[in-house]
Amino acid sequence: GGTTAHGVYISNMSVVNRWNGRPYSQRYYDMLEKRTSLPVWRQKREFLKAFEDNQVLIIAGEPGSGKTTQISQFVLETIDVESAYKHKRFMVGCTQPHRLAAMSVSRRVAEEMDVTIGEEVGYSVRLEDSISDKTVLKYLTDGILLREAINDPLLWRYKVIILDEANERSLATDVLLGVLKGVLKKRPDLKLVVISETHKAKKFQSYFFGAPLIKVPGRLHPVEIFYTQEPERDYLEAAIRTVVQIHMCEPPGGILVFLAGEQEIEDACHKITELVSEMGDQLGPVKVVPLFSTLTPLMLNKIYEPPPSPLTKDGLAGRKIVVSTNIAETSFSIDDIVYVIDPGFAKQKVYNPRVHVDFSFVSPISKASAHLRSGCVGRTQRGKCFRLYTEKSFKNDLQPKTYPEILRSNIAHTVLTLKKLGIDDLIHFDFMDPPAPEALMRALEVLNYLGALDDNGNLTKLGEILSEFPLDPHIGKMLVASSNMPISLFYDKPMFSVIPNCFVQPRKAQKASVEAKARFRHIDGDHLTLLNVYHAYKRNNEDESWCSENFVNYRALKFADNVRHQLACIMIRLNLKLCSTDFNNRDYYTNIRKALLAGYFMQVAHLESKGHYLTMKDNLVVHLHPSNCLDHKPEWVIYNECVLTSKLFIQTVTDVRGQWLVLIFTEKIFSSFFHLCP
Ligand code: ADP
Ligand code: MG
Repeated sequence: GGTTAHGVYISNMSVVNRWNGRPYSQRYYDMLEKRTSLPVWRQKREFLKAFEDNQVLIIAGEPGSGKTTQISQFVLETIDVESAYKHKRFMVGCTQPHRLAAMSVSRRVAEEMDVTIGEEVGYSVRLEDSISDKTVLKYLTDGILLREAINDPLLWRYKVIILDEANERSLATDVLLGVLKGVLKKRPDLKLVVISETHKAKKFQSYFFGAPLIKVPGRLHPVEIFYTQEPERDYLEAAIRTVVQIHMCEPPGGILVFLAGEQEIEDACHKITELVSEMGDQLGPVKVVPLFSTLTPLMLNKIYEPPPSPLTKDGLAGRKIVVSTNIAETSFSIDDIVYVIDPGFAKQKVYNPRVHVDFSFVSPISKASAHLRSGCVGRTQRGKCFRLYTEKSFKNDLQPKTYPEILRSNIAHTVLTLKKLGIDDLIHFDFMDPPAPEALMRALEVLNYLGALDDNGNLTKLGEILSEFPLDPHIGKMLVASSNMPISLFYDKPMFSVIPNCFVQPRKAQKASVEAKARFRHIDGDHLTLLNVYHAYKRNNEDESWCSENFVNYRALKFADNVRHQLACIMIRLNLKLCSTDFNNRDYYTNIRKALLAGYFMQVAHLESKGHYLTMKDNLVVHLHPSNCLDHKPEWVIYNECVLTSKLFIQTVTDVRGQWLVLIFTEKIFSSFFHLCP
């Protein structure tokens, strides 16, 4: 009948699932009921009409309105099943800036459509995918779509592309925008839906020639905002204190806490659980859940679980507490969150082209971020947002917005990708916000040094190879130059954002964990120490309890192993020789250090007579980070990143020889980059 919730919205509801011909399960109907009450469903007709009439469409709306999970399914309704399977090209792709979001959302949507993940609905993220011949809807990271464009420049496989979270302005999204603008001209049959947060939607409209905008109605309930009277000295301590206070004094409802790093989050989770349990039955039970990008989709599901039940029949209500990085600002919306705690910090990576280093530090968030954070509540009832800074500081100190990644990143790999896409005129490429000419010039310079571009700026053979690796070109180069794969995994910079700290150092077991780390120590450097961990992990049959006994991060190692496998596949596909020095050979570690240097020869520092180091390329005064494993101060070191805390530190360092550098600069290693091993 036309009067039920489903009947109103779904015209041709049948009992058979059109995607796999199976009858729908009860669960499907249960989920459907929830789905149809999401705000986007109110505009379904309007959306479908506008979708039919236009090539590009912008959707704007508050988090939690159902954009990510529902829009793709609306689009699928317009696709004919028969032809979808006949012509492989009728695929709908929905991009996400975060791999975890792509993996978990696709699972959710597969459940909503009552199909198996990896069949009709799948995902594809860096170094991992789950798709089949039958896949008609694919969630993928923006970076993967960009890579697909290299081999399929007009993206023939896709009929519709949905660029989700476009407002996040990741590097890959920004490049995709420019690429897609060109593709849309050449393929009038391709459709594009751009999903953005409300405030940024106008900018996308004007970028896409005034494409129509559909606004999904916003939050229904007011959010009260509280500031502290005085600045907080220690935001971590203040955040934990606030959690406990809310749990003691406020009515039931989930709490979301924003913190900067993964270790910080794990520590906070333990601390909160501990504090609450110490207070015994004065307080209701809590379920404390971490949220950051390296979780598995399975672990992620916990954020959607209900709070724990009271311990006794009329005991105090339980509470769910989610402790997250800024990934929860837009990528995941949790309905039952009522309180949000915003300490005002986030970890940011900033690239400074003038000195060619990535600085990574915990820095104040922008006003735009603060708004997003307070917007995480108020969806199902009134919400409260506790900002752990003063109102004055909010008004005067926070910058208005976060700069798009393209304006603050090392764009070497992006430039390589653009070159591979055949876009030579980078200066006139239609960037929404063009990177600084200086950053572009630096990237070209780096690629030329690496031998990826020739002196005329054309892609070399090595450049072609490097563009195939989903890695920073320095690391790609090192892989090409080396053969001992496992090492590369840990100090891959982009991967660093994916792999959390390899060593676990809980505050409670400080001493034991430091001792454990010492057992893996290689006195010539941190990279080699990490390699020792990896070998030990493999020797112990990848055992999870071995990892926790030895205070190493099981998840990180498992992931690294997976990455190693994937990279090996790429190397085999590119016909690169996979050779490795025998572990018992006395040159084993030396060869690895040479390979490291071949990729990272630009991140070398020299010991000065005053005891500090000077970076070779830019003459920055730097110091070895206290976490290093060296037992001496080598004359030359390579390093992974510069970290700015009390001083400028270089982190993850390894001893290298001056004479190897000479070899590199006389191109002895360059010219034989395929065969470094003896
Ligand atoms: P938007 O993209 O507009 O922020 P989404 O489509 O991501 O919204 O989410 C719509 C609704 O589905 C939200 O209420 C969210 O909490 C819920 N949801 C999303 N993923 C899951 C999941 N894995 N489990 C339970 N609920 C989910
Ligand atoms: Mg979304």
